[in-house]
Order: sequence, then structure tokens, then C-alpha cells
Amino acid sequence: DAGLCDRKTLHAKAAIAKLSASEAAGRVIDRCVQIFGGRGYDRSYPVERLYRELRVDRIWEGTSEIQRLIVAGELVKRGTGVLGMPSAG
Ligand SMILES: Cc1cc2nc3c(=O)[nH]c(=O)nc-3n(C[C@H](O)[C@H](O)[C@H](O)COP(=O)(O)OP(=O)(O)OC[C@H]3O[C@@H](n4cnc5c(N)ncnc54)[C@H](O)[C@@H]3O)c2cc1C
Repeated sequence: DAGLCDRKTLHAKAAIAKLSASEAAGRVIDRCVQIFGGRGYDRSYPVERLYRELRVDRIWEGTSEIQRLIVAGELVKRGTGVLGMPSAG
């Protein structure tokens, strides 16, 4: 919004945020189910609902694979610096 970077770079930064948050949430809720054991799979416990609800975050608004393609495209075109990543080598 402040015009600090162009639309495509902003798109890639949003893709990084969406990808990392949804993948992290998926890992965390998977552990929660494991910790709860059979109760984690039981519909009467909220952890089961959260597991189902978080799963779709890696699919809608652009799947994880598509977010990776967006980020990779930006890295190939403009390098790591533009996304605030340390430069390779
Ligand atoms: C509950 C729900 C609500 C939704 N609400 C909305 C809504 O309100 N508005 C809206 O516009 N859309 C909505 N969607 C659609 C959603 O955005 C799409 O499901 C999503 O973009 C994925 O598209 P797709 O389902 O066609 O999967 P596909 O594109 O068929 O993908 C299938 C699989 O192939 C992979 N894949 C596809 N292309 C590539 C590629 N080039 N390289 C590598 N892997 C690839 C995908 O990552 C995925 O794993 C909703 C979906 C769901 C499940």
C-alpha cells in the first residue's frame, strides 16, 4: 500500500505469508491430533474440527503448489534480495 514494492513482488511476498502460515498450521494441528490420540479423531472434540478446517487452507486461495510456483518465479526473475531473503553464495 505504501508503494514500497511493485505488484509482482508484493504478490510473491503475500504468497510466502500464505504458504508458510498454512503449512505451519497444518503441521501444528497434525501434532495436536496425535497428542489427543483417538480423541483427536473424535468429532466431539474441537481438535478434530480444527484439523478439518485448517486442511483447506493449503488448497483454497491458491494451493501450496501454486504459491511455491509464484515465489519461485519471482526468485528466478529478480533474485533473493527483492524478497528480503539473504542472497545465495
Ligand atoms: C471450501 C472451498 C471454498 C472455496 N471458495 C471459493 C470462493 O469463494 N471463490 C473462488 O473463486 N474459489 C473458491 N474455491 C476454489 C479454490 O480457490 C480452488 O479449489 C483452489 O484454487 C484450487 O483449485 P482446484 O480445486 O481447481 O484444484 P486444481 O487446480 O485442480 O489442483 C489440483 C492439484 O493439482 C495441483 N496443481 C495444479 N496446477 C499445478 C501446477 N501448475 N503445478 C503443480 N501443482 C499443480 C494443485 O496444487 C492441487 O494439489 C473454494 C474451494 C474450496 C475447497
